[in-house]
Amino acid sequence: MNIKDIADKYVMQTYSRFQAIFTKGKDVYLFDEKEKKYLDFTAGIAVNALGYGNKAVINAINTQTEKLLHVSNLYYTEPMALLAKKLVEKSCFDKVFFANSGAEANEAAFKLARKYGHLKKNGASKIISMKNSFHGRTMATVTLTGQAKYQNGFGPMMNDILYAEFNNIDSIKNLIDENVCAIFIEPVQGEGGLLPADKTFMEELKKLCTRNNILLIFDEVQTGIGRRGKLFCYENFDIEPDILTLAKGLGGGLPIGAALAKEEIAQCFSKGDHASTFGGNPIACACANAVLDEIENKDILKNVKENGKYLIKKLKEINCPNIKNIRGLGLMIGVEFDFEINSIIQKCLDKGLLIIGAGKNVIRFVPPLIINKKEIDEGIEILKNCLPQG
Ligand SMILES: *Cc1c(COP(=O)(O)O)cnc(C)c1O
Repeated sequence: MNIKDIADKYVMQTYSRFQAIFTKGKDVYLFDEKEKKYLDFTAGIAVNALGYGNKAVINAINTQTEKLLHVSNLYYTEPMALLAKKLVEKSCFDKVFFANSGAEANEAAFKLARKYGHLKKNGASKIISMKNSFHGRTMATVTLTGQAKYQNGFGPMMNDILYAEFNNIDSIKNLIDENVCAIFIEPVQGEGGLLPADKTFMEELKKLCTRNNILLIFDEVQTGIGRRGKLFCYENFDIEPDILTLAKGLGGGLPIGAALAKEEIAQCFSKGDHASTFGGNPIACACANAVLDEIENKDILKNVKENGKYLIKKLKEINCPNIKNIRGLGLMIGVEFDFEINSIIQKCLDKGLLIIGAGKNVIRFVPPLIINKKEIDEGIEILKNCLPQG
């Protein structure tokens, strides 16, 4: 049996996979088992921030592997402490909780918000989330995810979750009462179709939260770690959230998640309130430390800003009558078509370019943050050949 047949026989069928078996990667390229080369504009869905084979990252992992793979959170380790310090120093937050994925980071934020409501707001337990959002697949996070297709067949959902219209402040105001403890929002709806929050909407939302003692929780699992040209996407708005979650890009390819909070909120978790056996794993944390150092030392954010603009410019030059809209910031860019984009994704794969969708009609570009102009040109050429021409 080949690898595909083995996987199909023995792995639960929760994914519809493309016909590609990848064996290795270098910079922004992946290679399949026949040594066919693919230019990767997906980066493992916004995960491989530094591409493949970054020397500093490999070194950090190998060095830590030689020393210690895992130790219980009953004890201290250096990589975890240093990563928490780094995240706090680079952000507006004071404390970090480590998890292993985006959903787990959001789960931690969810529990922290409920505990805040319990301790500081007379037991307020309602949480407002946005329609068309995506926050993960655990029961709490799939409930927060305001899209029926992710919830169907798994009910009942969690109690006390309300859904508001994204970018519509009145829709949120209508749901607010003294029982609301938190609002969850993606600064850019990623899975939902690369839809950014308006700046004025965010500013009004922050004011609304402050006035009503409601926690503002940013899910930056996808937008965080440089994707939108700043280390954290909230820096693109003139506001500070109360809690922020990270995952995808943080580990540069290793599983890690984090929930960051301001001191007063973080204090609502007492010893024993929340935990994760693997959270803060020394290898994942050593790796994330290396990712953050590389982003700083190599001025990766400058590359994200410059080449993000360049990619948008090149996309706008494509003459395809079916393109309805091109939007994005940094290296998180969406191209909206007037038809379903599945066939384009397949064609690009055949021609050696990896892209993914966001919703039915939007192609999402989330390449490694290190991508250069030559590689963008190469990707654009392949893409052009896979589109209906005008
Ligand atoms: C991917 C994603 C998640 C879920 O992350 P997992 O690591 O798959 O659990 C949550 N929120 C957002 C915004 C995401 O893009």
